[in-house]
Amino acid sequence: MKNIDYQLLQQRYLEYAENQSELEIDIMEKFGAFLPDEIIDAHTHYNDFKFLLDVPPTLSAHLVSSFLGFNIGDSDKFNALLYPEKKVHCLRIPLPFQGINLKSVNDHLLSVSYSEHRVAVAGIPTDLVYTLDVLKNGNVSALKMYHWYSHPPYKEIYDFFSPEILEVTQSGNVPIILHLPGTLAKCEECLVRLLLDFPRQRVVVAHMGVSATSTLDDLEIYRKLSRYENLFMDTSMVIDPMVLTQIFKRFPLQRIMYGTDLPLSLVRGQAYRHPEFGLRIFSSYPYHWINPREVDEQGVELCGVSPMLIHWQALLSLENAIRVVAKKQQEKVKEMIFFNTAKEVYSF
Ligand SMILES: [Zn+2]
Repeated sequence: MKNIDYQLLQQRYLEYAENQSELEIDIMEKFGAFLPDEIIDAHTHYNDFKFLLDVPPTLSAHLVSSFLGFNIGDSDKFNALLYPEKKVHCLRIPLPFQGINLKSVNDHLLSVSYSEHRVAVAGIPTDLVYTLDVLKNGNVSALKMYHWYSHPPYKEIYDFFSPEILEVTQSGNVPIILHLPGTLAKCEECLVRLLLDFPRQRVVVAHMGVSATSTLDDLEIYRKLSRYENLFMDTSMVIDPMVLTQIFKRFPLQRIMYGTDLPLSLVRGQAYRHPEFGLRIFSSYPYHWINPREVDEQGVELCGVSPMLIHWQALLSLENAIRVVAKKQQEKVKEMIFFNTAKEVYSF
């Protein structure tokens, strides 16, 4: 595989993201009125090019490789751009991929974080000693572990969040951020086992448990899971308004928190459903991970409107879900989702 200059690509992609269309600017103004003045983004990622080692080919073919060196300065800049006149606090998580020196990113985030932000460290599934050690740092607000840290990826939750680690996070009252290693239907059994084995462990399921291959058949599981009071979810990257609204009808709103998955939310494109791979993003902009052949084969139809940043698509879907489900309680629900729940769980 030819060498990819990730630094140059990121620079181009960020310039493209920064240059908002008129439609996006209109939406941004609308959200100026809709959003509370103070917001917690409970799901943001960081690295720096100096911590990038080798990028595995599976990663380079995926949109997650768009911004491999996204740093705190970039995040501050985009928060100021996307939420003018708001105060945004972030839960900062390293980009959790193989090929990134996670220990250095953890150290970096823990050393620079200041009062208004919090850090979720990335544990290393193959390095129990290190993971237990980094949890001793008093500034750790959560632990994230990722099934894609291994190739092929881990299939069971306990393969990457081992019970030895969960003993320590539970007793230290450290929440975990769990990206499910499959659809909610596939992971339901191991998730419930974790919730029963570690009844005091607060678990935040990323992306509302929605994955590329989720189907509407999974929806009833949310109602079943709603009884576990230590289970929370974040809204990052859920861009389908129908799916999000249906989940909001089944899972307690006071345990849902706003997240973006920044910088991935800075990709501009539109979703389509591939029969095998599920939800994918297409863009007419030449991101290096777009496979034009796949797009041709699937006959992706571009609608007349130019695609928006995923950031706005996700916020529009969240606004719709809040409007439909919260009805007259909207102001209260907004305070919970955009601020209070994350403040409580991550001790902001
Ligand atoms: Zn993420």
